[in-house]
Amino acid sequence: MSVAAPLAPSARAVLRERGQREVFCGLTGIVWLHRKMPDAFFLVVGSRTCAHLLQSAAGVMIFAEPRFATAIMEEKDLAGLADMNEELDGVVTRLLERRPEIRTLFLVGSCPSEVIKLDLPRAAQRLAAQHPGIRILSYSGSGIETTFTEGEDACLATLARSAPVTSGGDGVALIPELLVVGALPDIVEDQFERLFADMGLAVRFFPGRSSTDLPAIGSQTRFLLAQPFLGETAAVLEDRGALRLAAPFPFGADGTAAWLQAAADHFGVDPLTFRRAIAPARERAKRALERHREQLQGKRIFFMPDSQLEVPLARFLASECGVELVEVGTPYLHARHLAPELALLGDVQISEGQDVDKQLDRVRAARPDLTVCGLGLANPLEGEGLTTKWAIELVFTPIHGFEQAGDLAELFARPLRRRDLLRI
Ligand code: SF4
Repeated sequence: MSVAAPLAPSARAVLRERGQREVFCGLTGIVWLHRKMPDAFFLVVGSRTCAHLLQSAAGVMIFAEPRFATAIMEEKDLAGLADMNEELDGVVTRLLERRPEIRTLFLVGSCPSEVIKLDLPRAAQRLAAQHPGIRILSYSGSGIETTFTEGEDACLATLARSAPVTSGGDGVALIPELLVVGALPDIVEDQFERLFADMGLAVRFFPGRSSTDLPAIGSQTRFLLAQPFLGETAAVLEDRGALRLAAPFPFGADGTAAWLQAAADHFGVDPLTFRRAIAPARERAKRALERHREQLQGKRIFFMPDSQLEVPLARFLASECGVELVEVGTPYLHARHLAPELALLGDVQISEGQDVDKQLDRVRAARPDLTVCGLGLANPLEGEGLTTKWAIELVFTPIHGFEQAGDLAELFARPLRRRDLLRI
């Protein structure tokens, strides 16, 4: 992997800002999590605003409704005139009677449920006792506590807590097992599974395709994070004695190779086997990237904070596509998980958190070729003649791994191409 002026994370000046922010709340994660675990159901305990957010974020509500819904809190609930727990029990009981195929029910907290201090973890325990055989868990997707992708983190953390614990018993040494952590599209999961198999490694994915098929997690677990926003989930695994394999994230040809290499090194895969296993796919990825390099080379890109994918994506664009980074904003900078990425990123302005007006001033002053930002900021910036990329697309599109490297570069190249055409 090419290294651009390595910089120790501790030596890096990070601009930390707190103020008004323009980021979706953690409920958004339901949009991709319900596809990943078709036997799970997400019941948001929230307001009509929450229901509208989900409906517009999902876009495909008509197909998705069977796997998520909103228990809408009315005025009388918020005013404390009704017993919310009683009402929730009734909603859940009716839902589970109507939908016997649900194996895991997530009660998802929202801003309104946080404000009235509805105790959803306790409600989940109570309801689980009333409905044996169904796993009932809770997490918060509220905009007070979470941004955008942190909803997935909160969901997976609660799922990990309910996974079985391994114990060696009688001093028997446990055989290390590899776990990839983070929701990935099935097609990407299949590609990674084949690559690991060619390296001679068995792998499991968390979450898997069934919410009930949970891996036992303990000191034998070695895990690779597939997403940079899983701080709480990683902490739950580490509390169980699992070991995180530090690596850059699997974006682009070099990023994916380095991610796989971390597992290969840990499990003692011999270098020749490793090279043979990844060479064809890595070559395909490099060829796919060449097609977009001409468009991206030398372009100035500004990342506004949105999904926590910004740092790995910026590294990919700079080191594999020749992009010049103006500023890389992220809602939260997990220094430990991002250390391998930061070491590869070079001397770039990184900002954490957001004071949106100040950041917009910096965008206007820099006038980058491309600004990666949330939906709400894209239109006003386009109106000012700036070219933008919706950050949310990067979460909804398969972008991990060798086979998606070209598509990932294309996501950034396309708006630049469109801009060039419009200018002509
Ligand atoms: Fe809005 Fe909060 Fe509901 Fe998210 S959880 S849609 S931020 S009210």
